[in-house]
Amino acid sequence: MTGEISRRGIIGLGLGAAALSTVGRAQPRDAVGFALVGLGKLSLGQLVPAFRNCRHAQLTGLVSGHADKANRIASEQNLSANAVYSYANFDRIAVDPAIEVVYIVLPNFMHAEYTIRALKAGKHVLCEKPMASNVADAEAMVAAAKAANRKLMIAYRCQYEPLNLFGMRLVRSGALGKTRLVVTNMGRQADPNDPSDAWRLDMQKSGGGALADMGIYGINGARYLLNEEPVEVRAHAQTDRRDPRVQTVEDLITWECRFTSGAISTGSTSFNQAGTMAWEVYGERGKMIAEPGCFYNGNRLTVTGAEQPKIAEIDQFAREMDWMADVVRGRAPLVSPGEEGLQDMRLMRAILDSVARGGTPVRTDWGYRRAVDPAVAVGA
Ligand code: NDP
Repeated sequence: MTGEISRRGIIGLGLGAAALSTVGRAQPRDAVGFALVGLGKLSLGQLVPAFRNCRHAQLTGLVSGHADKANRIASEQNLSANAVYSYANFDRIAVDPAIEVVYIVLPNFMHAEYTIRALKAGKHVLCEKPMASNVADAEAMVAAAKAANRKLMIAYRCQYEPLNLFGMRLVRSGALGKTRLVVTNMGRQADPNDPSDAWRLDMQKSGGGALADMGIYGINGARYLLNEEPVEVRAHAQTDRRDPRVQTVEDLITWECRFTSGAISTGSTSFNQAGTMAWEVYGERGKMIAEPGCFYNGNRLTVTGAEQPKIAEIDQFAREMDWMADVVRGRAPLVSPGEEGLQDMRLMRAILDSVARGGTPVRTDWGYRRAVDPAVAVGA
């Protein structure tokens, strides 16, 4: 299993792994209870199995439109029938003390509604990327978390992943010299016959096709590698409208971000290319190439001009859920809060605005600075 480009067939494997799980509703005592909302490819293929590797997070609820599926998984996970919710009775989680965190794993256009409902129910929220399908929804989510005085974390798993953390620290150390260029390319072939891709190819539901699904890793990656925010972006798209997959979304998008330090990042994304999630950093004296750099596992980093690292593989989803559990218990800072997701939503909008204006530069220096640097806050 390598990542977003190879999710087909994951569900069967995920259920197999999940069936071996011994996670139950009462163990361990201090664990933070999580409800998964939306039992699709990511939930079934990665998240349900990942709870086996969690130390502080525990699966205690399932929210689904398909009761048969949810009940089957509940039974495999030793959850009782009252741990299963539908979208209609979701708000009843408010009186379920076993659920402290609601993990939103729905199509992008549903993130805002269920995040806000969960916050109003008094729960903390871990929400998948992109945090919403448009900027207004993302702003409403950040405001709702503030109003409810609850934590909102965006599930940027790479900000907690050892290879990416190593890359951030190498850049910060200066060992490669001043960073001149970050290059990111994130793409794959989309399958319109796969229901999981059908909504991703719908602009209203995804908020941007490949850009919102995979390009966001490159936008976010350049920001966390450089530890600064772009002040200007310009972008172009190449979309063949004869391709039935790209009727409402753009296909190949390339962008260029300028940073105050003088660094430039270039990014590209497409749903009509050989699959990759790769990034490169070029400094004055050294370089590093992560290809792949953002898969679920099997990531590889080649460093030139500094020592080649040995990097341990981890269960990225278990680490991320444990991190959220630690945030809830006050043991860890919120590294990827709603504001971090909102910044990427605004940058994606700037990219699409520039595309619409034929590549005209769009200013992005609206003053966002992230509060917590993952390179400092998150261990190896
Ligand atoms: P899927 O389409 O496979 O699953 C989404 C699930 O949402 C469905 O199975 C369904 O679950 C539920 N759902 C409720 N209403 C609808 C609807 N109208 N249309 C479609 N589904 C609906 O998506 P993924 O699991 O691949 O992705 C979910 C989220 O996770 C997305 O935001 C995506 O960007 C993100 N993601 C993040 C990854 C990462 O590495 N961080 C990797 C992959 C995805 P049910 O039948 O239970 O109601």
